[in-house]
Amino acid sequence: MRLDGPESDNVEDRRRQGGFRGGFRGGLPGGLGGGRRGGGLAVGGLGGVALLLLFLFLGIDPSMLLDDGSGPNPYQTQQTRQATPDEEASRRFVAQVLGETEQVWREQFSRVGRQYQDPTLVLYTGGTQSGCGGAQAQVGPFYCPADQKVYIDLDFMAALQQRLGAPGDFASAYIIAHEVGHHVQNQLGILQLAQRMQSRSDQEDANAIQVRVELQADCFAGLWAKRANDARQILESGDVEEGLNAAAAVGDDRLQREAGHRVQPESFTHGSSAERVRWFRIGLERGDLVACNTFAGLPSGGTP
Ligand SMILES: [Zn+2]
Repeated sequence: MRLDGPESDNVEDRRRQGGFRGGFRGGLPGGLGGGRRGGGLAVGGLGGVALLLLFLFLGIDPSMLLDDGSGPNPYQTQQTRQATPDEEASRRFVAQVLGETEQVWREQFSRVGRQYQDPTLVLYTGGTQSGCGGAQAQVGPFYCPADQKVYIDLDFMAALQQRLGAPGDFASAYIIAHEVGHHVQNQLGILQLAQRMQSRSDQEDANAIQVRVELQADCFAGLWAKRANDARQILESGDVEEGLNAAAAVGDDRLQREAGHRVQPESFTHGSSAERVRWFRIGLERGDLVACNTFAGLPSGGTP
């Protein structure tokens, strides 16, 4: 990628603020397909079932990943240290990608007479507190609508990308843009409508709605890449392939298969590899919001 635009000021780097010290008090993390925690519904980044399988594979109890956000803050925040050169480089990369998303989404919103409110992106290591409860890195990148922040542990993301076979700077940018896509959905009221629909649905239909939410975030990531590239030529050769590869790597079917499980489409919460690639590509080729209506054709009549 070629990133020489301005860095965003909305990166909150918590990586030098000590580490997580306390224990989690149980409960399913929102990142695993949408549990309601501490007043917010966290939206997972990579794949709910996929990550659940990953946890089982890694021997991590997902019920330990998030607390309810109440009680004393178990995070140590007093001790700070100097950023290492690697940390500074990664902060800069993230701030530039976020800055690119801000430029694109401000423009897209102003076209429809709306004003885009920039989200905050929190970088953390190990664990941190969010408006949707406490989070450990194993939950994967996620967006918390309650505090309008994207949470990313870059070390964990790098390890996950390596495990999934989705390396590259644009693969990372795709993941960030996907999470920002959830923020866009939040701003447009799509998350709220989807939640209302889910509350009236059985588990299988609720999963199907969640898949539409996730595929739309993939489409928004593609839309962002096209718009940013049209304006500022951010893409280099191989970048699109990296993005498509990353989208395929986090498809529910592939992750279920890789975890040694039978593929169960009714349990999907993020969509199959083919669907994720398809919607990322639609966003990338069309570059407009209307093209990203992943909800058309739902039994509920295509709303939201
Ligand atoms: Zn997501």
